[in-house]
Amino acid sequence: MTALQYLNISELFYSIQGESTYAGLPCVFIRLAGCNLRCGYCDARYTYEEAPTAMDLAAILAFVDKYPEVLVEITGGEPLVQTNVHPLIELLLARGRTVLLETNGSWPIDKVAREAIVIMDIKTPGSGMVEAFATDNIAYARARNSIIQGTCEFKFVLTDQNDYHWARDLVHRHNLSQSGPVLFSPARGQVSPLDLATWILQDQLAVRLQLQLHTLIWPQLSRGV
Ligand code: SF4
Repeated sequence: MTALQYLNISELFYSIQGESTYAGLPCVFIRLAGCNLRCGYCDARYTYEEAPTAMDLAAILAFVDKYPEVLVEITGGEPLVQTNVHPLIELLLARGRTVLLETNGSWPIDKVAREAIVIMDIKTPGSGMVEAFATDNIAYARARNSIIQGTCEFKFVLTDQNDYHWARDLVHRHNLSQSGPVLFSPARGQVSPLDLATWILQDQLAVRLQLQLHTLIWPQLSRGV
């Protein structure tokens, strides 16, 4: 590591992991600034609308080291916008940390260290960003999971029933549930958890309904959780 390796940070915080098969576990979060997409339901606009803080990797690691026993999640914004995210992942893995990387699916995931757990969005039509998905990522995800099972999870945020049908058909077409965990989340305020649960049950779909745990625990907070 050199002193010249910086990342633009939006926030560092310690909370409960809320959006994956790791949901519910304590986790230290590294939220990187900047995003190349503009989803209609974005609840993290501050990551690209506010000025970031440049931090070198040593300072980021010093923060993470305060929580030595827990998961580490790198999120955004879009983390893969910044190439220095890769040395950060490597350094965390070398320290024996379990690393989750949340990505919006528009950047190739093939360069992400094999041992990291990628939680990859597949943007739906209702996001307004469906065209941004890097379609090769399905093959890359399959390859990751065939080498180390569970190192890529597929996440869909659904804004209405049309999105649900679109995502369901994509899951079937690519046999995604056989490749890795598939997560269906309702866009907050747009789809009720009950409706999404009903659709999944009716279709007997092998996907995991997930609710953003942190928003249930801290509904009054929009950041730092
Ligand atoms: S990818 Fe994530 S951070 Fe970027 S605009 Fe969409 S919801 Fe917001």
